[in-house]
Amino acid sequence: MKEIKNLVDLTVTEAVEVLSSGQISSRELTEAYLERISEHERDIHAFITTTPDLALKMADGADTKRLKATKENENIPPLLGLPLAIKDVLCVEGVRATCGSKILEQFTPPFNATVVENLLNAGVVVLGKTNTDEFAMGSSTENSAYGVTHNPWNKERVPGGSSGGSAAAVAAKFSPAALGTDTGGSVRQPASFCGVTGIKPTYGRVSRYGLIAYGSSLDSAGVLARTTEDVEIIFRLMAGYDERDATSIDAPVADAVCRDGADVKGLRIGVPKEYFIEGIQPEVAQSVRTAVETFRDLGAEIIDISLPHTEYALPVYYLIAPAEASANLARFDGVRYGLRASDENMLKMYTESRGAGFGPEVKRRIMLGTYALSAGYYDAYYGQAQKVRTLIKSDFENVFSKVDVIAAPVAPTTAFKIGGHGDDPLAMYLEDVFTLPANLAGIPGLAFPTGFDSDGLPIGMQLMGKQFDEPTLFKLGYVFQQHTDWHQRTPHL
Ligand code: GLN
Repeated sequence: MKEIKNLVDLTVTEAVEVLSSGQISSRELTEAYLERISEHERDIHAFITTTPDLALKMADGADTKRLKATKENENIPPLLGLPLAIKDVLCVEGVRATCGSKILEQFTPPFNATVVENLLNAGVVVLGKTNTDEFAMGSSTENSAYGVTHNPWNKERVPGGSSGGSAAAVAAKFSPAALGTDTGGSVRQPASFCGVTGIKPTYGRVSRYGLIAYGSSLDSAGVLARTTEDVEIIFRLMAGYDERDATSIDAPVADAVCRDGADVKGLRIGVPKEYFIEGIQPEVAQSVRTAVETFRDLGAEIIDISLPHTEYALPVYYLIAPAEASANLARFDGVRYGLRASDENMLKMYTESRGAGFGPEVKRRIMLGTYALSAGYYDAYYGQAQKVRTLIKSDFENVFSKVDVIAAPVAPTTAFKIGGHGDDPLAMYLEDVFTLPANLAGIPGLAFPTGFDSDGLPIGMQLMGKQFDEPTLFKLGYVFQQHTDWHQRTPHL
């Protein structure tokens, strides 16, 4: 038997191994995480809601189930007893889902998101719901109505966003893995800011049912964990066709590629010049270039490429995402869900509930989006943005005839200071320049750590792949992590 390190140090792969061998119980593992959370959550604030009672109940259930299944020779679910944290925009039946918003402070969904349901069927134990920018709108978790999350590497820094709570929870070892969502970078950027690994899947690969909608043509549920192998395990179990999501695609989930013998020889990696622009923190560019050289040393072929419409991704996204958000958020009107601020008459109910329930960034996006969709402006803004979106998409299609994946920085800087962007929404939007294109094109992106800057903050790179080609991303991330140890470094809390 292998000696077990501190329980919270286990990766998903290791935890699953020691759970299956019976070396530890799910209760022991779950208690270890709950203890760590109660010790450090005050300083990090990764969660909006923790669910210790539910977690212990689920853990005991998992332990009982394992005993019974072993005795009766039944199948054992692959993640049976594994603790997991879930971003607060994904519905878990019976657990409050706030989306980081006051308007949903009292909302408890009566159903599970499909990704959650899939993972519950695989046996996970729910530790709690993680902090997020309100309705996933933001890049720092500062837009949460429930307070900011602190980066475990430096508590004066943001963890990134909007899945900042999930990234911080993994980095702080509050959970071996966490679910996030990525509409314009919200899995990859916080993964990069917190030194963890995260996947934003192909649009349509993972069900959006029960993911409280932000931008429906861009939203994708993803996973954050400490290694690529861990991310792949959870991704494969949550992915798949779902008839309850009309954009879900009926294609089989590929076999796991993170295993001994995986290699990257002959894979063609494109490096787009538009992602190494002026204004990027030099240490970030350098670290990503060094990682690309590591891939070259491992046998990959490196090719310079161009994605000429990259500069339009930011304005295009900040028209399309708010436009979709303005429509999606119309349902929060005081009638059906969450906050009702007035009963006096219908108009007052609408305006006062929305006025009191939504925070400033959400209101800004609703106004921007409503404007971009309004008669007389639709063609000039939303319509035009859709056309340019097609150009961005075709940039990728052209390049993917020459390369297998694209390597780029995740964000232009490492984690910035809490309050660092003050009241400047544009400065915040600029954080997303490198992550938005993948969402606009519907392609997958994997972020993983490649080094640290001189302030000791993690740097990450992303690999973007062809639609449905998550396996190639995982293979590259896995092989990189077999040869480097950036992902093994963890912060001292
Ligand atoms: N930062 C981007 C935004 O604010 C992306 C957020 C996300 O991916 N959910 O819209």
